[in-house]
Amino acid sequence: MPELNGEEQQKTRWLDQLKAHGYRMTRPRQAVVEAILGDPTHWRPEQVFERARRTYPNLGLVTVYRTLELLQKLGLIRRVHMERGCRSYTLASQEHSHQLICRDCGRVEEFSECDLLETVERLAKRTGYSIEAHWLELLGRCPACLVAG
Ligand SMILES: [Zn+2]
Ligand SMILES: [Zn+2]
Repeated sequence: MPELNGEEQQKTRWLDQLKAHGYRMTRPRQAVVEAILGDPTHWRPEQVFERARRTYPNLGLVTVYRTLELLQKLGLIRRVHMERGCRSYTLASQEHSHQLICRDCGRVEEFSECDLLETVERLAKRTGYSIEAHWLELLGRCPACLVAG
């Protein structure tokens, strides 16, 4: 796991990213960012909405959706594709990384070891495609949930 030097530092980095791409850090956006920073699980927009509303009661759900889409576009968070097809997001830490997701508590571990790169290269050669990205998600149960039975 990469060392995060506190949520404040991460927040500053996110603010810089937004600014660098010409976006203002409005109060509603800030409430959304504060609701997700430091959370190692994945979350649905509705959950982010509930949490962010505690610091910014006038927040609208549409703003949450738009802010999450924006953060995803900037590569700060990423989509998680759950079995039941609902839309979730999690914090993104590395450029090439994959996710190990606990089905019970929702905890997400990122990992970067991946044997797909060779396959991707071979496939690109064979098909002539320029392959630019791939996703891999593993679902299971985390040690804490296994102990809890
Ligand atoms: Zn778990
Ligand atoms: Zn990979």
